[in-house]
Formats: sequence, structure tokens, C-alpha cells
Amino acid sequence: MSNNKHQTVKIDLNRPTGNFWVDTGMVVLTRKLGEGEYTVNDVLKWLLDRLIQKTGNKGSYYDEKSNQLREYEKENWVYPINLFIKVSGAPGKKVKIEGKDYPTQPPKFKLDLKLSKKPGICDLCGYEAPLTDAKMWMFPFIVDPAKFGTFYSGAKRGLRLCAQCALSGLAGYFGWLWKAQGRDAFHFFIFYSEPEEMERLHREVLEPLRIQGDKSGNFSSAFSGAYLHETTLGMLLELFAHVRQSDRLSESGRIYLASLLGATPSHGSPPPITLYAVTGEPGQSFSMKALKEFSKLQLLYRLYENWTEVLLDKQIDFNPHQRIIQILRQFEAQQGNKRETLWRDKIAWAILEFSDPLPFIELFLFDVRAKDKNPRPLVYGTLEIFGNYVQEVLNMDEQFQRILAGFGHSLGEAAHEHKEMGLLYALRNAKNPEEFYRVLNDVQFRLEITIPEALLRIEKGERISGVPWVRVKTLLSIYAMNTFLRKNAPQKTDSDTEKEE
Ligand SMILES: [Zn+2]
Repeated sequence: MSNNKHQTVKIDLNRPTGNFWVDTGMVVLTRKLGEGEYTVNDVLKWLLDRLIQKTGNKGSYYDEKSNQLREYEKENWVYPINLFIKVSGAPGKKVKIEGKDYPTQPPKFKLDLKLSKKPGICDLCGYEAPLTDAKMWMFPFIVDPAKFGTFYSGAKRGLRLCAQCALSGLAGYFGWLWKAQGRDAFHFFIFYSEPEEMERLHREVLEPLRIQGDKSGNFSSAFSGAYLHETTLGMLLELFAHVRQSDRLSESGRIYLASLLGATPSHGSPPPITLYAVTGEPGQSFSMKALKEFSKLQLLYRLYENWTEVLLDKQIDFNPHQRIIQILRQFEAQQGNKRETLWRDKIAWAILEFSDPLPFIELFLFDVRAKDKNPRPLVYGTLEIFGNYVQEVLNMDEQFQRILAGFGHSLGEAAHEHKEMGLLYALRNAKNPEEFYRVLNDVQFRLEITIPEALLRIEKGERISGVPWVRVKTLLSIYAMNTFLRKNAPQKTDSDTEKEE
């Protein structure tokens, strides 16, 4: 092992590794230090200066020269990077005075990069160079090689990294977006693209949007919680708000963001961009629970714009962005002293994956809203944006979706009038097409309403008008229960924000 005194490292964007964490760190170093050749120790020192902070507490050490106790200001690794760096300060020799242990120097916090004399092949970039064993402080994905094996070339023996990858790995902590949810969860996010695109994204978009000095995170998000998908969606919505106009981004940054998200007609297709989202428990040291990759950000932005148009067209809200946030944020409930957001996470998952959110909306409406002390319908606009979603994403015919909405509405109204909430639960609980039709038969008989013909024809593959029967059932349940709850709720006279479906 050498002490790197004369070892140098190149800082530039010319050797991307394809690893989103390390490449992000390369962008950070290039942004902050500038391209060039540096000694390993200088780069390490630059990073350490930003990694260590005074805690505001004082400690004592025994000064051997003057033979007396002296005060010093305690230091620690900055939060939240301290969840990943488990190296404690070196106290020097310890001495016992009146039964108490004292360090003989203020504990020094430092990290060493012990590089091998003999070069080898770096596991991340594939170049030949002196290597070091990867530690969590330079690469957080070291935590569980079995679970996240795809990030390792030599899964079992642990990673061996060159100085450029190791230092970039440590710099990666300065390029992430993170959000902490108390003791429950810690999330972090990285946008990944070509190095030049990433550099520009950091410079023109992420850095201006960054929040400093907040213990709960370094970016604003429309909502967040203990789960990964809700927090990811909350963050993206906040980012989307800066596409059409922004009080934080420069005009060129705003236009760049718009082009990345495919919001402006551009020459050729926008550069591909991926969002990596990681969730784990903070605890003593970070324990990784999930790592997800989202690459359909442009499609997602288009969906968001669709919703904006729907809300404006139907004059639901003149501030459609706020309305979308309010709609998506609502899927949570107070349970004891905990705010449970599982439904919101499932719905966010479905949206991010372009899958079906309806079963989770149904679950929330029937098991949370309808059973609440003050049962209430969904936020005004919810059914409109998800109506758009079933058409655009789940490819439901617009005409058929309208029939379902209209019939569901009449059904909910009639059920309320006849005090037949049980029928709505029977509908929700239908397990197969036979049960579904039996309930509709009951509905016809007991509520004296006519079932639309489009609903009565079951086709091959248990489809109704081309739609899987269970989706028809779910959507109908949602429309009906929502109307029932609206009729049931005490009439509200106050403001728009309370205005419900
Ligand atoms: Zn390397």
C-alpha cells in the first residue's frame, strides 16, 4: 500500500463507467474542480472539507504537552452522508484521568484511500490502475452484494476500484437528491444520462432547485412519505411545475428541462434520461430496501400535461398543478398516531409504471373514505384525471368510459336515496362476471334503474365492451361510491380547496 502522495487522478467526463452513482460523482467533481489532473490527496481533502462539520458540542481532550484538559469543538460527518460513512474520528492514545477516558487529541475525522502499488483492472470503469477495496463511504451499493448483484462484476469478492472511481463515488453523495422521512425511511434519487447532459442538468436545473440546510431533504416535493413511489412522484410533480414557467430556473435552464422532458418540439428525440430511486431505513447505518429505475419520464410529463388540460377545460381549477397535487396527495389516512400512505404509494406506483391504479382507488374509497368518521368523496377533479388516464393509458374507449361514469353516478344516487350502501359493497366484492351480473340484477330490481346495454354483453376473455370485466366493475364501483358519499356528506359552502367531486 502506498500513501498516494504523488498519485494523481484525472477529473473529466471522458471515461463514463455506465454506473449512475459513480458517473454522477464525476459530474460533481468536474463541476466543482474543473477538468484536469489532480493529486489523489488534494481531491480527497477537497471532499473531506465538505464532509465534516462542527456539531456545536464541545468535548475535552488531554493535552500531553501542557498536562491539562483542553476543550475542543466536536465534529462529525455531515447529515445524511453520516448514514453511509461509519468511520469514527481517531482519538489518538487514550489516557485515564480520575476514572474517565480522554483522547490525547481532538478526534480527527479522515478517510484514507489506500491504493495498491500493483495496478489491476477497476471493476467499474474497466481501466488498469492502482486499486482500492470499495467501502460504503465511496459506494453506497456495497451494502448488500447479494441483493444488488447487478451492480457488481465480481459479486462475492467485493469491488476493487481505481482512484477516479473511488473519489467519484465519494463525490456522488454531493450529486444526489435525498428526502428523509424521520426514522422510517430515507430516499435518494439520481437522474442519469450522458455525462454532458448530466453536467448541464446539474448546472442549470438541479443546483438552482436545491434546498440548503433542511433536515428533511435537499429538494422540494409535492408530497412524500415512507414509501418509494409516492416520494418519487411527489418529486417529479415538483420538477414538472418548472417546465412552463419557473421562478427558480434561468430561462435557458427552464427550456433545457422542457426539452429533456419532451415538452418542446425539438430536433430529433430528447436525450434519454433515467431516474434511479433508492429507499432504505436510516437506523445506525443505511439499510437498502429497494432500488428502482424509471425511464418513461417523457411519457409521464405528457400525462401530466393531459391532466392539466382536462382540469382547465372542465373549469375544475385555474391552478391545475395545485389541483393535481391535491388529488394525488389525498390517498392517505391517519391511523392511530401514524399517517399511513400505502394507498398513495400504490397509486403512484401504477402511474409511474403506466399500470392500473383503479383497484387502489377503489380500496381507498371503500375501506378508508366510506368508513371514516366523516365519510367524504374524493377531491374534486379526481375522477376527471383518472377518467383521462383510463382512456390514454389503459386504452378504454371514451364513449364506454362516459357510459360507466353516467351509470355509476345514477347508481350511487339511487343507492343513497334507497339507503342501499350494501349494494355498493356487493358490487365492489364481486369476484367473477356471474357475481357481477347478479349484483347488477339486484340493482335493477331494488333501485329501479336500467342497466345500460353496453354493460350487458360479455365477450370472449371475460371482457365487456373490450375491457376486462373486473376493470368495468372497479370503475363502476368508484363512480357509484363517490356519488353516494357526495350525497351523504354535509353540504359544504366553503372554498374551492374543500370542493369535492
Ligand atoms: Zn475505475
